[in-house]
Amino acid sequence: MSTQADEITDVIAHPLQQRLPTPTVTAWGRYETVSTVLVEVRTREGYVGVGETLGRFAPRAYAELIHSGIAPRIVGRDPADIAALWQIMRRTLSGRAGGMLIEAIAGIDIALWDIAGKVAGQPIARLLGGMGRDRLDVYAAAVNWVEDAAAERELRAYVEQGFTRIKIKLAGPVDAACRRAEHMRRLAGPGIGLCVDANWGFRLDEAVQVGNALSDNEYFWFEEPLAPEDEQGYEELRARCQVPLAAGESNYTLDQAQRLVASRTLSVLQPDIARSGGFTETRRMADYAAAHGVAYAPHIGMSGIVCETASIHLAAAMPNFRILECECDRSPFKVALADLSPACLRQSGGTVDVPTGPGLGLEIDWDAVRRLTVQ
Ligand SMILES: [Mg+2]
Repeated sequence: MSTQADEITDVIAHPLQQRLPTPTVTAWGRYETVSTVLVEVRTREGYVGVGETLGRFAPRAYAELIHSGIAPRIVGRDPADIAALWQIMRRTLSGRAGGMLIEAIAGIDIALWDIAGKVAGQPIARLLGGMGRDRLDVYAAAVNWVEDAAAERELRAYVEQGFTRIKIKLAGPVDAACRRAEHMRRLAGPGIGLCVDANWGFRLDEAVQVGNALSDNEYFWFEEPLAPEDEQGYEELRARCQVPLAAGESNYTLDQAQRLVASRTLSVLQPDIARSGGFTETRRMADYAAAHGVAYAPHIGMSGIVCETASIHLAAAMPNFRILECECDRSPFKVALADLSPACLRQSGGTVDVPTGPGLGLEIDWDAVRRLTVQ
């Protein structure tokens, strides 16, 4: 006898694109626009869940994958069977798990958890077990890799906004990177926590030099110094530097993070819930990190409010949560897509509130979604 209580009727992907209010500049280059994909799952009983897929480039390609590849496999199924649906979705493509498919699954998985929370009348953080937290520590992201005067202005602005932990973007050449790290430390003073994100900007020997400058200046982590595939490089860097290493935003699934977590090469694992298969897989990654004494610090970056809110719920429920990324330039997808009734995303004094409404606790502004959709 079937115990199915409800069924998925529609899976709709909304590819979004917008200009950034101020360009983001990292070792990757300069971003003038930002893209993402909002995912809507509807059920026969009238529930609507929302999720977000990290579709930084070609957002319409993600929408096509969701509509013609994944949706036909899950429409008609029970939205409560999230773990089973994840396995069904993962078999949409026959290759090893990763890439666009897992990002697309992330958006649907987040929407299914939103529905589960609405059905239960509970915020997702509590469905996941809950740690009794109502606020989370955040850090400001980020001081861009721009000329000195502009970087100084950005750092001062974050301090004035009340942040006590701030991320600095660095890139080559090495001597410029080391100089910037020292300069930011002098300017911030000893009371502000600083970390660095290099966005794969260095080779191993360069990363050793920069890493030593960071530990001399008491930075609390060195994020993605090397390309994510260079696992041996990360291990050598760990052996040659004191500064804690952080990475994980480039991993899609637990198996891709396993080696560097199990060896404790990383001190901090940073999966992005809108990339790493949603709550279902990102929670496995955070739990695996916890089992190895590695901290969990969600990556959010230029994603939208659904990714940010989902990250807050998962972070609130994980015992090894360290700190949340707070993107201060506020991409249009963070400010325009939802009525901020949970007020949770207005940070103050370096913390954010955990939303208390059912599911994600977000009210999406569907007019804004239509306005920002790529034609
Ligand atoms: Mg990063």
